[in-house]
Amino acid sequence: MAMPTIRHVRAFTVRGGGADYHDQGADHWIDDHISTPMARYPQYRQSRQSFGLNVLGSLVVEIEASDGSVGFAVTTGGEIGAFIVEKHLARFLEGQLVTDIEKMWDQMYYATLYYGRKGIVLNTISGVDLALWDLLAKVRKEPVYQLLGGPVRDELTFYATGARPDLAKQMGFIGGKMPLQHGPAEGEEGLRLNLEKLADMREKVGDEFWLMFDCWMSLDVNYATRLANAAHEYGLKWVEECLSPDDYWGYAQLRKNVPRGMLVTTGEHEATRWGFRLLLEMGCCDIIQPDVGWCGGMTELIKISALADAHNALVVPHGSSVYSYHFVVTRHNSPFAEFLMMAPQADKVVPMFNPLLLDEPVPVNGRMKVPETPGFGVRLNPECNLHRPYQH
Ligand SMILES: [Mg+2]
Repeated sequence: MAMPTIRHVRAFTVRGGGADYHDQGADHWIDDHISTPMARYPQYRQSRQSFGLNVLGSLVVEIEASDGSVGFAVTTGGEIGAFIVEKHLARFLEGQLVTDIEKMWDQMYYATLYYGRKGIVLNTISGVDLALWDLLAKVRKEPVYQLLGGPVRDELTFYATGARPDLAKQMGFIGGKMPLQHGPAEGEEGLRLNLEKLADMREKVGDEFWLMFDCWMSLDVNYATRLANAAHEYGLKWVEECLSPDDYWGYAQLRKNVPRGMLVTTGEHEATRWGFRLLLEMGCCDIIQPDVGWCGGMTELIKISALADAHNALVVPHGSSVYSYHFVVTRHNSPFAEFLMMAPQADKVVPMFNPLLLDEPVPVNGRMKVPETPGFGVRLNPECNLHRPYQH
C-alpha cells in the first residue's frame, strides 16, 4: 500500500471544558477551595480560576493526509499552542509520510529546545503527536492500542478522582482520590479539617476501598510528612503531587518519610524521558502519572513507560481520556486507570473531555472495554465552536 503523506496541519482553540478540564463554570467541585501553591495568598485561596488556572483553554490539532484521512487530538494549550503548531511545528510535518512519527517528534522537540523542554511547548508537541497517532491508526484502520502492541487485558479498571469517593464506590470504581482542600497556610486548623474529611470518607466507604489525597503541588516536605503519617490510620493509599514538580530532592526525602506501605505518586506536570528519568533515578515516587497530552504524547510515553518498568515503578497516566485508555490497556505496568469525575457535584459519570468529543467512552461499573474504532475512536463535536487564530 502506498503510504499517504501529510498535506496540511491546522490548530484551533475552544473554550468551556474539553481538554482544558479546569475551564468549568461556577459551583464545580474542581474549583472549590482546593489546596494550591497559590493558597498562601488569601485572595487566591478559594478558587483556582482566581489565579488563572483556566486561561489557556483547549487546543485542537487536525492533520490531513494526501488520501483525505484526517487525524486529530486535543490537549491544553489554547492560543499559544495554536501559534506554535501553525508557525513553527507544521513545517516538520507537511510532506512527510504519515508513518514517520519518530522523526517528526524528534524534529519538533529539538527545533523548540531553545524555548521548550517542558510546559506549554510539550503540551503542544503532545497534541501534534497524538493527532499523528490518530491519523496513522485511521490510515491502517486499526485502534491505536493495536499499533502499541495490542492489549494485555480485556478491559480497564478505574479509580475516580473527585470530591465524592463515597459516590464513586457506589458507581463501581476501585478507589476515590480527593483533592486536598487546606494547605500549610491554613495551619493546624487546616490540617485537622483535611484529616476529618478523610476520616469521614473512610467511615462512609469501609475499610477496603482505596482513598487517596491529591495535593496539587501545594505542600512542603514537613507538612506532607505530617499529613501522610496522620492519614495512615485511615488507610490512605497514596499521597499525590505533594510538592513542586521541580523539587526532586523534596520528593526523594518525602518517599523516605511516609509510613511503610503508603505510596508517593507524582508526574502529571513532568515531561519527557529526561524529566521522568530524574523522578525514577532519584527515587521520588512509586507511581509516575504522566499526562499523555502534556508529557510529550504517545511517542514519548512509550519511552517513559519502558524506563519506569525497569525501575519497578507503575505508570498510571493522569487524566488524558482516550489517549490514556489506549495506552493503559497495552501495558502490564499500568494496571488500572484514572477517571476524572467531571460532573459538577461528582455525582455521575460524564465523559472526561465533555463536551468536546463525540463517542468518548466512559466506564460502566468502574470498567471499560476500549472501543475498536480506528484511531483513538472519537470525533470532534460539531456543536463546539472552534476558532483558528493563526494560519500558515
Ligand atoms: Mg493530580
